[in-house]
Amino acid sequence: MNFLEERIQLEGVVKEGNVLKVDKFLNHQMDIELFKQMGAEWKKRFADTPINKILTIEASGIGIACIASEYFHAPVVFAKKSKSINIEGDMYISEVESFTHKCKNQVIVSKKFLGPGDHVLIIDDFLANGCALQGLISIVQQAGATLEGIGIAVEKGFQQGGRVIRNLGYHLESLAIVESMDAETGEIVFREQD
Ligand code: 5GP
Repeated sequence: MNFLEERIQLEGVVKEGNVLKVDKFLNHQMDIELFKQMGAEWKKRFADTPINKILTIEASGIGIACIASEYFHAPVVFAKKSKSINIEGDMYISEVESFTHKCKNQVIVSKKFLGPGDHVLIIDDFLANGCALQGLISIVQQAGATLEGIGIAVEKGFQQGGRVIRNLGYHLESLAIVESMDAETGEIVFREQD
């Protein structure tokens, strides 16, 4: 098991409805030493990839993206969630359905901060059905930027997102892939990765 899998095994809590709570170290209380290990690992996995911008989505992607940016020396842009229909101009917009909150949000990124010259690494905390990721990919495409890769902390491999994104040909690196989890026993099984 790698460092993140060990931490999930130790402190992750499996909830009903296929939700894994990792708020002790990732998305409420944040363990920055762990985030540094994650940043270093993504840097290793995307070595030699020209990346000049990191794109994430609020809220829980922001912390890990900021620490990762120290390893890539690239600024972080985060997509903002917005419920309003009347968005000012000069924004890329896409629609994202939230897995945990069961609602739809428009996410927006200013055209000032993403354009055709950019080589983008998307970072996010979770990959479940892939809606959040599809929204971010759409924003990269609207900008005419190049999507160099996607770094995810925890992929739930029993949901479809990872398969769909890999089938589209993107370079996706998930640091921990949960193969199965059981809310009753609390058991978490990870996919073997090399
Ligand atoms: P997706 O759009 O891939 O279905 O879900 C991704 C988003 O939903 C992530 O950005 C994350 O915030 C949230 N999410 C999905 N599954 C889980 C989960 O099991 N635990 C937590 N904490 N967040 C999740």
